[in-house]
Amino acid sequence: MSFNLENLIRENVKGLRPYSSARDEYVSDGSEMVFLDANENPFENGVNRYPDPQQRNLKVVLAERKEVQVGNMLLGNGSDEVLDLLFRAFCEPQKDNVITLPPTYGMYKVLSGVNAIENREVLLTDGFEPNVTAILSRVDAQTKIIFICSPNNPTGNSFNVKHIQELLRSFKGLVVVDEAYIDFSAGESWASKISEYPNLIVTQTLSKAYGLAGIRLGICIASSEIITVLNKIKPPYNVNELTQQRAMKRVLNIDAVTNEISTIISEKKRLIQALQNISFVAKIYPSNANFVLVKVDDANNRYQQLLEKGVVVRNRTNQALCENTLRFTVGTEAENKKLIDTLGKLAN
Ligand SMILES: *Cc1c(COP(=O)(O)O)cnc(C)c1O
Repeated sequence: MSFNLENLIRENVKGLRPYSSARDEYVSDGSEMVFLDANENPFENGVNRYPDPQQRNLKVVLAERKEVQVGNMLLGNGSDEVLDLLFRAFCEPQKDNVITLPPTYGMYKVLSGVNAIENREVLLTDGFEPNVTAILSRVDAQTKIIFICSPNNPTGNSFNVKHIQELLRSFKGLVVVDEAYIDFSAGESWASKISEYPNLIVTQTLSKAYGLAGIRLGICIASSEIITVLNKIKPPYNVNELTQQRAMKRVLNIDAVTNEISTIISEKKRLIQALQNISFVAKIYPSNANFVLVKVDDANNRYQQLLEKGVVVRNRTNQALCENTLRFTVGTEAENKKLIDTLGKLAN
């Protein structure tokens, strides 16, 4: 059986036509026009008009940066919205299922709960790699999506390319590769492979490396067929005007982003070195992201102690395969120093 997108789309979505907003029906060609079509307040203040529902200008700039075509891209209110759209487009409530690979990003489970979709969890191996055989053995006719997070949160590692490739080739549903941390990694993005794999969907975000978590801008890269399905169900104005403007400015000022990424990566190296000298640190996991997962003697205790000293980290001890681990986001030099100094004092 080969991949057939039509078979994966929910019946109610197949018949939908996207809401045609005023801003969809007429796009300005730049000539002097009078806009009396959307019941907006006519007095200019910069944001009195509805935003472009297709975010054309921003997409052109992002497409160039990501080396993909505009037609292979959908933008969302954070990649969390993109993930939710995927559930709503392809997964029939109370009937279909998805596969996730704990320990991983918590939103896949939340979204499967919200959308009434069974979440089949297949643990990563001890080396934090997808267990391809175990995953494929859980696939049935109702399995619509496999969520792969690479580099993975909270473990920090990128998965072996071969494992992802095997899943893309063997699974006839959709494979989502969540690349929220790709900009910190030397590895290649899967975005360049969407024409090779019609079932591949890549998600990225401006929330991490681009430093824009507050504006909520997520990116979905996939075949134009998949993008068309998602466009049918997305809220018309899901990316607001301020977000579009701010994102565009940032992406055009890419040197600033690249500089911050290099600083974060070199700070991460320094942080890892310093952590090696903390007596109660039992293991530092390799990281291709902007955080480090660390095994300590007693994560609950160390988490509390850090909190009391004003350092907030993420306690991952209750996640599968993550007993007694803490996740440290790489901060500024001063913030990392505060973390290291505090850990050093706790160790005495
Ligand atoms: C932070 C994170 C996201 C969230 O991205 P937004 O664009 O801010 O919604 C998605 N996936 C993973 C794995 C993350 O860690």
